[in-house]
Amino acid sequence: MKVKNLNILFISSLFILKSFTRTIYPKQEPHHVINWSYTADELRELTSQKIEEEKKIIEEIENVSDSKSSFENVIAPLINKIENEMTYFSYYLYLLENVAPEKEIRRVSAECYYEIEDFHYDNVWTNKNLYKKILKVRRNILTYRVKQLRSDEDQRLMEKLIKEFSAAGLDLSEEDSEKLNNLNSQITDLEYAFTDCIYEDETTVSFEKEELEGIPETIIEGFDKEIIEGKEYYILNTLTSTLKAVAQYAKNENTRKKMSIVSGQRCKENLDVLKKAVNLRYEKAKLLGYKTYSEYRLQNKMAENSENVIKFLDSLKEKLQPVAKEELKQLLEIKKKDKAELNEPFNETLNDWELEYYKRMLLEQQHTINDNVIREYFPMTHVIEEIFKIYEEIFALKFVEVENPSVWAPEVRQFEVYDNEFLLNEFLGTLYLDLYPRQGKYNHIANYSVDYGYTKEDGSRNYPIAAMVTNFSKPTENTPSLLTHKEVINYFHELGHALHQICSETKWSRFNGMNVEEDFVEGPAQMLEYFVWEPEVLKRISYHYKKHVPLSDELIKTITKSKNFSSGINNLKQILYAYADIKIHSIEKKDPDMNIYEIWNDLKKEITMMEPTETWPIAVFEHIMSGYDVNYYGYLWSQVYAADMFSQFKTYGVLNKIIGRRYRNVVLRKGSTEDSMTLIKRFLYRKPNDKAFLETLGF
Ligand SMILES: [Zn+2]
Repeated sequence: MKVKNLNILFISSLFILKSFTRTIYPKQEPHHVINWSYTADELRELTSQKIEEEKKIIEEIENVSDSKSSFENVIAPLINKIENEMTYFSYYLYLLENVAPEKEIRRVSAECYYEIEDFHYDNVWTNKNLYKKILKVRRNILTYRVKQLRSDEDQRLMEKLIKEFSAAGLDLSEEDSEKLNNLNSQITDLEYAFTDCIYEDETTVSFEKEELEGIPETIIEGFDKEIIEGKEYYILNTLTSTLKAVAQYAKNENTRKKMSIVSGQRCKENLDVLKKAVNLRYEKAKLLGYKTYSEYRLQNKMAENSENVIKFLDSLKEKLQPVAKEELKQLLEIKKKDKAELNEPFNETLNDWELEYYKRMLLEQQHTINDNVIREYFPMTHVIEEIFKIYEEIFALKFVEVENPSVWAPEVRQFEVYDNEFLLNEFLGTLYLDLYPRQGKYNHIANYSVDYGYTKEDGSRNYPIAAMVTNFSKPTENTPSLLTHKEVINYFHELGHALHQICSETKWSRFNGMNVEEDFVEGPAQMLEYFVWEPEVLKRISYHYKKHVPLSDELIKTITKSKNFSSGINNLKQILYAYADIKIHSIEKKDPDMNIYEIWNDLKKEITMMEPTETWPIAVFEHIMSGYDVNYYGYLWSQVYAADMFSQFKTYGVLNKIIGRRYRNVVLRKGSTEDSMTLIKRFLYRKPNDKAFLETLGF
């Protein structure tokens, strides 16, 4: 222990030296003043103007002679324009699409955003002339015909660009390019068909009131009603919230069973759509020179290849199954008692529609945790203030609220974030908080990147901007806005994404903050979630709005005890989805007869140990057909690294400033200027493993 501590002090002193020698950007007015009140016409006008500017730059680059093509006259102007500068405008539009108070602005912002995306796809990312120029740059550098690259980051940028263009098929012959375009458009059509089926699904099931017994009255009141032959029926849709309410609370087993089967049988045609897409994706990968589609998709990720993903999932599965078996046994016990009380037969098995029901019952019996009581300890203003303070302490930051903010809605708040290490007081970036629901606003919680940090062409710094968008309940006359523990966790998580962006200092925007490998992007946010389970942190962020006291030790114990409830069963379910995703995308030859229904049910039995039913939830597994294909494992993958990184705090003190600053310097600051695995190893002083993750699950 002592030795380890010394080690940290030694390393941190290196960072002290490093901090003093790092680049100090030329002083400039840091305060972000942004115009959020463009009219729809002005947004359209700006979009056309920016696209015209890009066209000019692209043309200029295309006209650079091959022999003179260099990083400075090809790559730098291209990336400065289409990534560094344009990302800001694109993300600005994307945010407006989701938060602008006026419907027209939301609509036009979306229109403009996609216009830019399409323009980039057609004129940049599939532009063979640009690709050839970049290849010429590399050749000219290698043969010393032009200036050598000045930094590792420039080198990384060039190599990444070449890889991306190549992966987009720009190395292919005319004939193969044609084939690829054809495949891409077929795949896109199938992806739309798949997700449309999910969104347009209008499956409903009608129940009489007594069949819904057990479901909280407030939820039942929200269901539509119909009268058939003088009888009143409640119409239940298949939205997640409805399914969850029925699965957890409906006393009547037939009601739960009916909903489970009906929802599990939605979009049967998607099984065929998915099979076609998987085969076309395989063909695409083959055409691009990869053995499988998963190899193609994993090439730029931490996992690197499907063997690593499968090894990872297998190893977790092995460790989780014995735990899940115990949990299932407990649920069976509860079921046995329940059936005895109801005077119904008990058949020694647990069905899909019984899992959530008995889990809820067991949770209520074991942990008398009442969300409504806990909420009273989390008044939003106190929580937010304390989270800022905690982040200020651990990561040496300072959050300063802007008095006259430039915002898109009057209730939005603007903060400036400063680096407070050694009282440097150096501006790092801007953070917006848009906390309450509004008509037409995005209705979950998310962090939006508005601008990335990078070095501008004139050498000055462009500072990042992040916007936290939440939908916390508004205060009423008698009650302040109160958060559930889950909402506090989500807030820590999303603010983690914002900090990743704001604390990162890179030359190019594409390496800034959250632009890391897809299977690590959640890591820094997941790492911060662990803080919200620590008694030390819970004490600080809680403050009963009437009693003016923090959570008692007793309540904290109840909260922390509930953390790992059912973690075996829940994580195995995640593994099932991740496994199915990898498996169907790892075929090494075309498989037109692939039986996805069977694959799903076999995996379900093997992984979750639950008996197959005549349902096909994979047909509504949106991720695999909406850009998240061969990536579902990423949630668990990054969670394991997040837990390992958090173990440093756990070992040396949850609020340990030295660890916090080192984490900021080693992981957050670097963005993706190096591979995430390198950064994690540097932070941990060793190779990461799943020990800490399993420990956080209580193993
Ligand atoms: Zn996240």
